[in-house]
Amino acid sequence: MATAEVTLDQAALADLEASFRGDLVRPGDAGYDDHRRIWNGSIDRRPALIARCAGAADVMSAVRLGRRTGLPVAVRSGGHSFPGLSVWDDALLVDLGRMKGISVDPERRVARVQAGVLLGEIDHETQPFGLAVPAGIVTSTGLAGLTLGGGIGWVMRKYGLTIDNLLSVDVITAEGEWVKASAEENADLFWGVRGGGGNFGIVTEFEFRLVPVGPTVMAGPVFWEMKDAPEVLRFYRDWIADAPDELMTIGVLRRAPDLPVVPRELVGRQVIAVAACYCGAVEDGERVLQPLKSFGSPVLDLCMPKPFLAHQAMFDPGFQAGWWYYVRSCDVASLEDGVADVCAEYGERIESPVTSLALWQMGGAVARVPHGETPFAGRDAGFTFNINGNSKTGEGFEAEREWARGFWDALRPFHTSVYVNFLGEEGEERVRQAYGADVWDRLKAVKRRYDPDNFFRINQNIPPG
Ligand SMILES: Cc1cc2nc3c(=O)[nH]c(=O)nc-3n(C[C@H](O)[C@H](O)[C@H](O)COP(=O)(O)OP(=O)(O)OC[C@H]3O[C@@H](n4cnc5c(N)ncnc54)[C@H](O)[C@@H]3O)c2cc1C
Repeated sequence: MATAEVTLDQAALADLEASFRGDLVRPGDAGYDDHRRIWNGSIDRRPALIARCAGAADVMSAVRLGRRTGLPVAVRSGGHSFPGLSVWDDALLVDLGRMKGISVDPERRVARVQAGVLLGEIDHETQPFGLAVPAGIVTSTGLAGLTLGGGIGWVMRKYGLTIDNLLSVDVITAEGEWVKASAEENADLFWGVRGGGGNFGIVTEFEFRLVPVGPTVMAGPVFWEMKDAPEVLRFYRDWIADAPDELMTIGVLRRAPDLPVVPRELVGRQVIAVAACYCGAVEDGERVLQPLKSFGSPVLDLCMPKPFLAHQAMFDPGFQAGWWYYVRSCDVASLEDGVADVCAEYGERIESPVTSLALWQMGGAVARVPHGETPFAGRDAGFTFNINGNSKTGEGFEAEREWARGFWDALRPFHTSVYVNFLGEEGEERVRQAYGADVWDRLKAVKRRYDPDNFFRINQNIPPG
């Protein structure tokens, strides 16, 4: 167990205090425990100092303190890293959570967004204009970390990944210098940050292209009993084979959650659901989704016209901060029978009310960007698996973890790539697998140019050597 009692260089700290606009929080200070906590309650790490930055100038000062003291530097935006790579024992934690600036230009369809912004916050600012940054599916997720790994979500099949809509970034380098990166300026760095995570610097601000979405969409889940999973998965596979780009779906296996919209008799029963979002005219969505709604014997149908904002918050109750989470992930090429059968088998074994499988339909615009144009390497994946072995507290966590490991192992023959933002702490070879050999070598070259000492190493690390 770490003690968080590393001795800080007092002179260096005093210099930082003199120029810092945000808050500096140390062990023993009020708020220390609140600020070191992240979304995953199974992570309990004690940084030596938390620098809650108010802006890019504070980030520059914090990086220079890290240089001067030799403290390892962890970076946190939304704190949703599954393996907790946004907080580290005895480290300097550069916390960007206060940096909430959002500026939307609805005429140019461009938004500038600071690193501490969460998905629900950017949607709140863009949806009044019927616009969105294509991003993820739980409102409390940080837009920064999500973007730096790629960014998959409800409108990606129509508009591409979050990185496909990124126009520029402001970055603080390992030397504490400010640089801008875009297609025109520092193009190698701009390539690297579109999937290479926080390996090259701290991104303080992002500029995104906005796309038209909603504000009303035809969306939501249709549920069946888990015993129907083999047939539902086969129907689902065949039905989406020629789906339009407007349609995005996520297959979900879990126990029916205890929510007001779920009939009492269904709560706690094992179910399979297909959640959909049609990013186009509602009438077209109703037509496209009719086969799903009428397949077999659904036990609950919540797929209907609704505000995109409401749909974006749909999964929030099932992924609350502080619960214990363990995630395994892989991509597969298709939902062939072997894959469907493993899903059905492990679906029947779900015990915890908060354990789930999310099976993401890929393709569409994501797949039309050529391999290598960005570091995100799973563009030809058929489906991305997010296997979540979760419990509300530490009690029972071990068993859920074993379920997730067993599920992932059973899928091994079908693994292709893996999405870097869904990786756990799985070692260098897995990070390499997430990118593929050619992209990995190119990422290392960018790392050598911008961070040759591996100053930014508390992440899904791309070592320079
Ligand atoms: C509930 C939940 C739902 C999710 N849903 C989706 C989804 O729909 N789509 C999807 O693509 N992913 C999803 N993810 C995965 C998500 O993209 C990653 O967990 C992502 O890292 C979260 O970003 P964050 O800012 O919250 O992360 P943090 O935990 O703050 O950081 C994650 C990593 O990124 C680095 N980092 C963060 N900010 C910066 C920065 N500004 N500059 C440099 N490095 C930085 C950190 O050092 C750390 O290594 C989800 C995760 C969770 C927990």
